Amino acid sequence: MTYVYDDQNIFAKILRGEIPNDTVYEDEHALAFRDIQPQAPVHVLVIPKGPYVTYDHFADTATDAEIIGYTRAIGKVCALMGVEPGTGGQGFRTISNAGEDGVQEVPHLHTHILGGRPLGRMLERAAD
Ligand code: AMP
Repeated sequence: MTYVYDDQNIFAKILRGEIPNDTVYEDEHALAFRDIQPQAPVHVLVIPKGPYVTYDHFADTATDAEIIGYTRAIGKVCALMGVEPGTGGQGFRTISNAGEDGVQEVPHLHTHILGGRPLGRMLERAAD
């Protein structure tokens, strides 16, 4: 696997504090902030603090502590946003787009957490 991390991507700049963001959660391993173009009433992006391009890159090369920390942060954000079904929320969807077919715009791993309304089926089949 060959990944080259571009440290000029917009989420790297957010992590360095060079551009503002609407933070909802932060810890040692992760930062979560509201998507600038929300697709649902709850639309938060959770990013690891390390330089990972995609989920597979992260899963293959991050430390166990980073993987555990990031995974737990996603769960904490779901609870913070009130969408966690186990504690009375109405549910959510996590999405992590990767590469060209995944239509990944920002080359720093991020997990979208979407909720706050019925989200419909997972994918609409577009004309091929
Ligand atoms: P994608 O890479 O396709 O999974 O999506 C990238 C997401 O980042 C999009 O939903 C954008 O609206 C969002 N985004 C881009 N720039 C910013 C920013 N400065 N602050 C918050 N969200 C952003």
